Order: sequence, then structure tokens, then C-alpha cells
Amino acid sequence: MAKVLYENDIQKEVLQNKKIAIIGYGSQGHAHAKNLRDSGYDVVVGLRPGKSQQQAVEDGFEAYTVAEAVSTADVVMVLLPDERQPQVYEESIKPNLKAGSALAFAHGFNIHFNQVVPPENVDVFLVAPKGPGHLVRRTYEEGAGVPALYGIHQDVTGDAKAIALAYAEGIGAARAGVLQTSFQEETETDLFGEQAVLCGGLTSLVKAGFETLTEAGYQPEVAYFECLHELKLIVDLMYEGGLENMRYSISDTAQWGDFVSGPRVINEETKARMKDVLTDIQTGKFAHGWILENQANRPQFNAINNAEYNHPITAVGKELRALMPFVKNPIENKEKEGNV
Ligand code: NDP
Ligand code: MG
Ligand code: MG
Repeated sequence: MAKVLYENDIQKEVLQNKKIAIIGYGSQGHAHAKNLRDSGYDVVVGLRPGKSQQQAVEDGFEAYTVAEAVSTADVVMVLLPDERQPQVYEESIKPNLKAGSALAFAHGFNIHFNQVVPPENVDVFLVAPKGPGHLVRRTYEEGAGVPALYGIHQDVTGDAKAIALAYAEGIGAARAGVLQTSFQEETETDLFGEQAVLCGGLTSLVKAGFETLTEAGYQPEVAYFECLHELKLIVDLMYEGGLENMRYSISDTAQWGDFVSGPRVINEETKARMKDVLTDIQTGKFAHGWILENQANRPQFNAINNAEYNHPITAVGKELRALMPFVKNPIENKEKEGNV
């Protein structure tokens, strides 16, 4: 079994006298900056003027530009959107990186696909939390954490691994488990997971179920509860105790249906297409398409995003969630406040 590290396995001294610059203050950025500060580290945040900078200042950080934050830092963690990183790296990070400092990422995409090519005189590592940034913060505050992978691309100081582990510990990940990986493995498995299972696979499964029921004449509200709302309850059971815990909780009728009908929906054919998705990731075909899409200002991304928003499941979901005030939705709350 792979070696999973916890708090007691990690030395913290190596990071204690170092200044950490967090570049970006979005989903991951705010969580890393606050968790590391609460863990006792010296943290600065690098941003352009705007919403995130305002938020960082409200949260007690000083308003430094990316260049200013990088030039004083011993560890620079890049938490900008992946597609923006190459440009900001060339303009503001690379010219200000100190020799012997560490350049860090939370996802291997730009290093693995050579969109960012670091100088030879810095350490390069990744600490990739396996969960959304808001949970990285929330679980830290609760005394828990989100597990993370770490990986080393360049080790010029001899301390890259120790710094990466101390960083992972500082954001709370070592409470849940820290596991070694490579930039290649992290990049390819992360992209595969989000495309085939967690995001792409799941949204397509939910929509197909919803459409099958509503096209057969069942009420959209019933279809929404059945195919989307209830998912959380099922996933919570899996999260807590694996597939066996979920199957223990459901009725035997549901379990029999799981056994006989699940493989009719997701089968060898589906798996063959998952392998195609993985091949496109491994060969760089997916990365190539995404990089070009961004260079063209995202025409396809925007068209698909609009079409998806207009799917009937959106409207019925909005109505039903409005009647369930205990279901928290940050986007709808912001819409009410007029922020989006
Ligand atoms: P977000 O989109 O949430 O955050 C983006 C931040 O970058 C904002 O603070 C934004 O500030 C800032 N920014 C954007 N462009 C610039 C610029 N040109 N100059 C300065 N600041 C800029 O990013 P994520 O947290 O989602 O992703 C960050 C990294 O973490 C990525 O590598 C991603 O793959 C990885 N990751 C993300 C996860 C997640 O939970 N989202 C999970 C695991 C890894 P402004 O307000 O000024 O636009
Ligand atoms: Mg991921
Ligand atoms: Mg990802």
C-alpha cells in the first residue's frame, strides 16, 4: 500500500523562517493563505487590484502586487486559474523569483504540459488538495482537513520534499493524509477524475436520468429529487464508509436494482470511452484543445455553458431549492444580493 503521511510524520522547522507568497485569492488561494497564517507561518498574498484583493485586505492581508509578493518570498504558491498562469508567470513571477526559493503549484497542468518552464535555480513542487478550496478552509477550521498529494519536479536545495510536506501540513492536509505523486500522475489523474467521474461523468448521468423520467411523462420536480437532490445523501454514505456502507443503508430492493441495472447503464462500452478520455489526456490532446480555446477567448466554452444553463433541470432546481432554505447555495445568495 502507498505510504500515507500524517502530522507526526512531518518536520515543520524547514518552513518556519520562510516567507510564503500565495498568488491568487480564489477558491484555493484564500484557503491556503488563511490556513497557513493560522498555522503560524509568515504569509503574503500577491494580486492585481480587484475583487479578490479587496477580500484579501478585508481578511487582514496587505495589498501586494504579484511582483512584490514574489520578490520577497521563499516559497511562491501559484493559485491562479490554470489557463492564466503562463502569462502571469512570464510577466510577474519569473522576473522576481529569488534563486534558491521554491515555486509551487496545486495542480501539475502547466509544468507537465510545459506551459510554465521554471529556471534551474529554484525548487519546484506541488501540493494538490483533493477537494474544493472552500472545504480546505472549512475543514481546517473544524480541526480536520482535506487530503493532498505532493510531488517534486525540481529539487535544487535538497529541501524540496521537506518544504512540500511542511506546506501540506500547514494547510491542514496532514490531518487527513498526504500521499506522494509525480506531476504527471497528479495532472493525468486529476483531469481524468474530473472529466470522467466527478464532474463530467456525474452531470451527464444526472441529466440522462432526469431526461429519461421527464420524457416518460413524470413530474420534473419528482425527477429532480430522484436524480439530483438525493445524490448528496448517497454520496455522503459512500464518503463515510465506501460503497459497502451505502449499500448497507439502502433497502435490499435498491441494492438488487444497483446490482442488476447499474452495469446496464455503465458498462464495458462506457469503460472503453473512459479509456479514450484518458488517452486524450495522456497524449496532450485535451490540453491542446483547452489552451487553444482560451487563446480564442472561449467561444465553445461560452456556448456550451449557456446551453447547459438553459437545460430544464436548472429552472426546476431553482424553484425547489428556494423552498428548502436549509440548502445553502452561495451563487443564488449572491444573485439575490446582486453580486453576480
Ligand atoms: P480561482 O479561479 O478560484 O481563483 C483565481 C484567483 O486568481 C483570483 O483571486 C483572481 O483574482 C486571481 N487572478 C486571476 N487572474 C489574475 C491575474 N492576471 N493577476 C493576478 N491575479 C489573478 O482558482 P482556483 O482556486 O480554482 O485554482 C487555483 C489553482 O488550484 C489551479 O491550479 C487549480 O487547478 C488548482 N486546484 C483548484 C481546486 C479548486 O478547488 N478549485 C482543487 C485543487 C486544485 P481576481 O479577483 O483579480 O480575478
Ligand atoms: Mg481535482
Ligand atoms: Mg482539477
